[in-house]
Amino acid sequence: MNERELESGLTQVEAERRLKKYGPNTIEKKKGISPVKIFFSQFNDFITWILIVATVISGFMGEKADAITILIIIIMNAILGFAQEFKTERSLETLKELASPTSRVLRNGKIKIINAQELVVGDVVFLESGDKVPADCILLSKGNFMVDESLLTGESEGVGKSNFGKNNSVYMGTIVIKGKGKAKVVQTGMKTEMGKIAGMLQNIEKDRSPLKEKLASLGKVLVVICIAICIIVTLTGVWRGQDKYEMFLVGVSLAVAAIPEGLAAIVTVALALGVSRMLKRNALVRKLPAVETLGCTSVICSDKTGTLTENKMTVKALYFNGKMHKADREVFPENMTMKKAFTYCNDFNFDIKKVHISEALMGDPTETALIKAFFKDGKTLKKFMDKAERIYDIPFDSDRKMMSVIMKEGSKKVCYVKGAPERVINRCKYILDRGEVKLFTSSEKNKALRAVENMTSDALRCIAGAYKDSGVAAGKSLENNLIFIGIAGIIDPPRKEAKDAVLKCKLAGIRPVMITGDHKNTAFAIGKELGICKTQSQVITGEELDKLSDRQLSSKIQQVSIFARVNPGHKLRIVKAFKAKDNIVAMTGDGVNDAPAVKEADIGICMGISGTDVTKEASSMILLDDNFTTIVAAVEEGRVIYDNIRKFIRYLLSCNLGEVLTMLLTSIFALETPLLPIQILMVNLATDGLPAIALGVDPPEGDIMKGRPRAKNESIFARGLSEKIIVRGALIGVCTVLAFVIGLYLGFGLETARTMALCTLIISQLIHVFECRSEKHSIFQINVFTNIYLLAAVATSIAMLLCTIYIPFLQMVFHTSPLIISQWFIVLFFSGIIAFMNSLYLYFKSNIA
Ligand code: ATP
Repeated sequence: MNERELESGLTQVEAERRLKKYGPNTIEKKKGISPVKIFFSQFNDFITWILIVATVISGFMGEKADAITILIIIIMNAILGFAQEFKTERSLETLKELASPTSRVLRNGKIKIINAQELVVGDVVFLESGDKVPADCILLSKGNFMVDESLLTGESEGVGKSNFGKNNSVYMGTIVIKGKGKAKVVQTGMKTEMGKIAGMLQNIEKDRSPLKEKLASLGKVLVVICIAICIIVTLTGVWRGQDKYEMFLVGVSLAVAAIPEGLAAIVTVALALGVSRMLKRNALVRKLPAVETLGCTSVICSDKTGTLTENKMTVKALYFNGKMHKADREVFPENMTMKKAFTYCNDFNFDIKKVHISEALMGDPTETALIKAFFKDGKTLKKFMDKAERIYDIPFDSDRKMMSVIMKEGSKKVCYVKGAPERVINRCKYILDRGEVKLFTSSEKNKALRAVENMTSDALRCIAGAYKDSGVAAGKSLENNLIFIGIAGIIDPPRKEAKDAVLKCKLAGIRPVMITGDHKNTAFAIGKELGICKTQSQVITGEELDKLSDRQLSSKIQQVSIFARVNPGHKLRIVKAFKAKDNIVAMTGDGVNDAPAVKEADIGICMGISGTDVTKEASSMILLDDNFTTIVAAVEEGRVIYDNIRKFIRYLLSCNLGEVLTMLLTSIFALETPLLPIQILMVNLATDGLPAIALGVDPPEGDIMKGRPRAKNESIFARGLSEKIIVRGALIGVCTVLAFVIGLYLGFGLETARTMALCTLIISQLIHVFECRSEKHSIFQINVFTNIYLLAAVATSIAMLLCTIYIPFLQMVFHTSPLIISQWFIVLFFSGIIAFMNSLYLYFKSNIA
């Protein structure tokens, strides 16, 4: 690779050519989901098999029309189930792809973030601590790297690497622990060392969902109850002298209709649908069960820089020679040593072709802000950079809060340091004052610290610069006895939308907490502006945190809203302390040192833009835009999804209960069978399928973020849901039986009475589906037009019902007879009366309360 290629990387065209020729940079062949398999799995169900056997029996007994119709219904049910499952699988598959690692690569002279699968041999990639090496590479940048190769070698000690000598290769899947710089890809995919060993796990985790498990076990109990009831219904029928074969079919059909076979599967569907909605709002969920927990979040611990602030940094003040210079009042006077310190001790990248400096610069906003304060165009910057050569560096990390380099300037070696003022000032013995190096007296130090106080109180982020030009050698004492140069104050304005998001959290009973490596004053000023805190007493620093025992911390933590000057290590303590107080904690992180806290949190959130691979892997959710507002949106979606699962369950169980009771009550009272097997299956098809799925995409109620978060161990049936299901289910059953009995009593004949029962049962369920959209409001208070899928589903079901009773051929098949107006009155009365009464009750209740 020539010099030019190292500067600008491969061209996009060349990279695409190589990708086509050598294939993607993946280890595993991705197994596609097989639609055929999914379709046939729909029949792989005990109850469906019973139904198929029953159909075959009825076929043999000469009931061909019955058999064919039942078969069609079975297939239609399978198609519905297939559509649902296929969509779920597909959206999970897309997520998997999105969650796969990305890589920063140099293409056409620009840094691009691409899916690591698209890397090709010859690509120049950027690596830094926390990154998972995306392919086998050789290091190009000077400086020391440390890599964790335990995945390859089992050796847990970090391995030192550098760009010269034998140890210059880093391998796919290993993790950079220390260092920052460029590397060139030399092998990809199956040709890498990892590929040879193969079997790397990189998939999105399909963890078990606790809710799904709970529902699956509830489902099993319900199956047993349903089968018992079906047997009772069948046996009482036979005992009363009804046709054995007929009653057998009734029992089987009832079992098919009443058993909520989809109960647990529904959770996955609702979660998957919600997850794709969250993706649209820039939150990428890596672990499905996290969605359940999101709705319970009571504390959101968020980084400041880039999440609560814009990460658009500008130097507003410079302090040197004992004086403060503010950008709004003057052009900064030239200070060559400061310019060198902040430019050389800096990991920015730039595009030489761009004229304006703002377009040319790429890299960490703190660092590029410093460059912008000193340079106006790329050419001058390049010239300046060419005057010196970096021969050693210690990259910035959030624990040390400092960065150092050794530069070769002509024959001289100079060390430049920049970092958090307290850290840098403590290492300075001298001060550069108007070109002269003097002893850094305590009064000078205090003056500098006062300057920091002033700048940070104005919400500025402070970086101090220092240097030394004698006794420079890589080693422990490199950063001692430094010469203090001055301080830069950088503004990073709060995100405008974050203020509303903070307010939304507070209304929703969620506590927003800021955790930052920045100075206490800077953090407080930003926190106050955003509404996170009111007084300084709500701020605690890392140093103060260290002095508190775990007990003291947990007794204090409920009052703290800002943790300032903390190290990533502190985050773990903070999560644990919040959890000890029974909070459900969401915690953001990006750097590799944040990973333990992100893993410990109930909802670990990693930044999509600035996050490292290790932290991404520890997280349950990735913020694609690094924005606090997105966390709040995700919590909101979490609540919506949970609510929708409740709506689903309420609807399915009360309807199924209604169906079972219809059959049970008539058999207890020794009445005729109100529904024939084929009619029961028709009810199942019209009500359990589309309307139930449409509830899964129901938009949230307006006040979803106005109540406290629910407790994590709350039962899905809590807050009166089981009562609602039982009462409403019972009433659906009673009303259907009444419609049937009145039909018989008025002498309409058995077939018409059955048709009336069929219509009442279906229509009351289709009305009930709208009731299920809200737990607090009546049908009159909700806007029925906000869920058009539900309207379409209900319209389809009604159309199906009308076809069954008015199309002569279908009348024969379903044994129905066309209803006349007066019969419809009875049907509509019994279908709607309960919903009407209930709505009146809710209306008065909410108006009186
Ligand atoms: P967070 O993202 O967690 O809100 P932060 O980004 O402000 O916090 P750090 O990046 O750890 O936290 O920065 C802490 C301090 O380190 C800053 O206040 C600043 O003084 C100093 N600092 C930040 N970036 C650099 C850098 N690139 N080089 C040298 N010092 C830096």
